[in-house]
Amino acid sequence: MEQQNFLNLLSDSIFIFYNNRIIFANDKALCLIGYKSIYDIVGKSIINGLSPHQDCIKTIKKIIRKVENNEMVSKVVQKLIRKDGTTLSVEISGTPYVYEEKHVIMFIVRNISENIPLVEHRGKRLDKKAVFTEAMSTPFVHNGTEAILTVAHDITKRKMTEEALKESEERYVKLVELSPDAIFITDRDKFTFVNHTGAALLGVSYPKELVGQDFLKFYHRDCYDKIKERSNNLYTKEKNLPLVEAKMIKLDGTVIDVELSSTALNYNGERTILNITRDITERKKADENKRQLEEAIQFDKLKTEFFSNISHELKTPLNIILASIQLINALHRDIEKCQIYDRSNKYIGTMKQNCFRLLRLINNLIDITKLDAGFLNMNFGNYNIISVVEDITLSILEYTQSKGITLLFDTDVEEKITAFDLDKIERVMLNLLSNAIKFTGENGNIYVNIYDKDDKIIILVRDTGIGIPENMIDKIFDRFRQVESSLTLNQEGSGIGLSLVKSIVEAHGGTITAKSKYGVGSEFTIELPIRLVKQDNDVKQESIPFERQKVEKISIEFSDIYS
Ligand code: ADP
Repeated sequence: MEQQNFLNLLSDSIFIFYNNRIIFANDKALCLIGYKSIYDIVGKSIINGLSPHQDCIKTIKKIIRKVENNEMVSKVVQKLIRKDGTTLSVEISGTPYVYEEKHVIMFIVRNISENIPLVEHRGKRLDKKAVFTEAMSTPFVHNGTEAILTVAHDITKRKMTEEALKESEERYVKLVELSPDAIFITDRDKFTFVNHTGAALLGVSYPKELVGQDFLKFYHRDCYDKIKERSNNLYTKEKNLPLVEAKMIKLDGTVIDVELSSTALNYNGERTILNITRDITERKKADENKRQLEEAIQFDKLKTEFFSNISHELKTPLNIILASIQLINALHRDIEKCQIYDRSNKYIGTMKQNCFRLLRLINNLIDITKLDAGFLNMNFGNYNIISVVEDITLSILEYTQSKGITLLFDTDVEEKITAFDLDKIERVMLNLLSNAIKFTGENGNIYVNIYDKDDKIIILVRDTGIGIPENMIDKIFDRFRQVESSLTLNQEGSGIGLSLVKSIVEAHGGTITAKSKYGVGSEFTIELPIRLVKQDNDVKQESIPFERQKVEKISIEFSDIYS
């Protein structure tokens, strides 16, 4: 009886056979087959009592034979037919057993069709907090009725920890994968992990291609020893090593500049080295460009200073030469019937013209250097721009006539007062006019037109000269730019004039543009804004006495034109 009570406590179905007859079945076993009472089964043969499926009878007999021979049979899957005709999948284990002092056969049968496996479930507690459970259900006989026994554990804590771990692991993996820095993990100088940036850095399509490869072979020989030493240090003593710059060689042989920091890391239980590497090639290039730029600026400054000094140094002796020439000239003229006057006059004229040419060049150089240094002072005053342009144009009539060129001036207004630097605008006009004369042959025309556009004034200088080739038109305002001499009338010049003209016009808030057709002529258009400056005297209606300096100014600006 004690034995029966014990067997009834078990969660498995127990059948006991003696002499091929069932002598005991526990409550679980009765329930499994569908019997109500033990008396319904006791005394039945094994096959009748267990009612195995047709296909299983043979195997069951085999199990019995084995147990009779004192062997144990473990977990053979079989099918039984219940009293209600339903089929059950069971796992049968057979063993010799001593029951009420008899040597019997015991079958331990487990229903595998009804056993609901371990399931996890997410629910809510009464206090609305989330709860995770893990439950296992199994058929169970309670007070003679069939029931399901569910055993559940609260696994919330474990689940939370698992999820946090998973989340942090995923985040870590994402971080490593999306890192803009190359991440290389190396074990004894062989790659064990490379992220996508790392593969791209070395010019490899897939990170896996690098795994197992020698890490050090990707370093340039200039830094190979340094990196090897760092790696050895990390294996033996150091934990972290500071940022260093190095050179790496991509798969295609390109050398790149990198910056790397390294740290010892436990990866998959091994001491490995984590190298975080950044491509700094562009930064290095930018640094080098910056250095070169600074050097160039410095050099340019030196050059400007040199130009400025030399220009001033040249001007002093030149002025002395000019003054002396003028003296000789005057002397010769005064000596009555100077025998060599006619002959010397010609040479003195040549000397004077060339002095003016030098003076023009020096003046332009001084202005250019002042412009570069931001020191070109503008002396604005309110003047009548029409009369200033007209005066200066007409003052060169003599030159144009001597060259057989027709000079035509036209304006649609007689007066327009605006603020400008008188001296500078005169130089602009003389420069454009001297160019027009230089590049216009005999019988050509030069037109100077002024158009009033209310808030601005337009000054046009047009000639019917040789013109400027199309590919040069954008460049003529650049400093020292000249059209190739074979395309010009072999005229002299330094290529500074137009660049200075442009700077002066721009300093007035205006613009200058050029249009030309090679072989037909050129047209320069200046647009000056109309504005007034505050000044002590009233508006200067007329230009300041120009006459006195006019001849000299023209002589200087026109010194390039050989008469
Ligand atoms: P330069 O002192 O040599 O005349 P500019 O800066 O004044 O220098 O002019 C630059 C170049 O532009 C000239 O060398 C010439 O080739 C071209 N150029 C300027 N004006 C004219 C023009 N009116 N007709 C043809 N070419 C011109």
